[in-house]
This record gives sequence, structure tokens and C-alpha cells, in this order.
Amino acid sequence: MCTACLDLLVGGLANLPALYDDCVRREETGTLQVRRRGSRKNRSIDPMSPAAVDTRAAIRVVLEHWAGLVASERRVQPPDRDIRVLTGFLRRHAEWLAAHPAAAEAVDEIRDLVLSARRAAYPKGGARSRVGSCPNCSGELVALIRAGDDALPSEIVCTSVPEHAWPAARWATLAREMRRGTR
Ligand SMILES: [Zn+2]
Repeated sequence: MCTACLDLLVGGLANLPALYDDCVRREETGTLQVRRRGSRKNRSIDPMSPAAVDTRAAIRVVLEHWAGLVASERRVQPPDRDIRVLTGFLRRHAEWLAAHPAAAEAVDEIRDLVLSARRAAYPKGGARSRVGSCPNCSGELVALIRAGDDALPSEIVCTSVPEHAWPAARWATLAREMRRGTR
């Protein structure tokens, strides 16, 4: 089994649900603006750029594809189509998937999803703020601030290696790793 593949898979899968959510939350501020004037009904729709819509669709398609492969080859019940259920299912089977002949393909696809979701959720001009040094390499960590009205950071990423990324749910772990790194 490829340990690097396993790390990349598990890391990517851990980050996808928050990125998937952030593609919706982001307000329409960029050049891909779709004007929604007029009816109240339209204003209630989450503003999403075409890139964010495409990215969310791609996340679903890719996760369902790999979950389907795992379910059929391992003869287990396929998971529901919810993003958190799909990523949880794939994380539980990540060791098996990392040993599969198609592991490299799965790693590439999930890595691409993370990168394009990050671009769609935090378009250029989105705020970033420096956090510190990456505990896993010599890169710098920045917090990506979503463009929505709450302006809370939702992911901390390494500027050198895109897979070094921590969603909010893993910040306590990151803080521990960073403390260990400075000692
Ligand atoms: Zn790093």
C-alpha cells in the first residue's frame, strides 16, 4: 500500500466537506457575477458562481464514483449521497483504496477537487491572513477567509504544499503540531 497515497486521500477527504459548504456560502463578488435582480424568490437562492456550481457537481460525481467502486468491489452497502456521508465512507475505506490499482487516479482526482473547490470558494481577492510556519514542511500557513458576511476563516492551508490543509474541525490538532514544531 502507498502510505503517501493514503495520507493524500485521507487529508483531501477531510477537507472536502467544508470546502463544499464554502462554495455555497461565498457571496457573489467576483467577475463571474450573475445578476439576480427582481423577484424575492430569486434573492432567496444562495448566490453561487458558475465555478462554484461546477465544483460542487464535480465533488459529488467524483465521490460517488469512488464510493460506488468501493461498495461494489468490497460488497458493502453504498453510502447515501450526502457529502459528509460519502467522505466518511471513503475515509473508512481509505486504506483499502490506497492499495487499489486505481489509487493514483483516486488521489489525483481528490487532489484536483480540493484545489478547484478552494479556488471557487475563495476567489482572488479573498482575504488571507498569515498563521505561522507549516509543521509538516518549510512552507507558511495562511488562513483563507471566506468572502461571506461572517468573515471567519474556514481553512488553514500551507502555501508550499496544497495537501497540508486543516479545516476548522482540525485546528486543535494543528495547534498541537505547531507547538511541537517550535520546541
Ligand atoms: Zn506544508
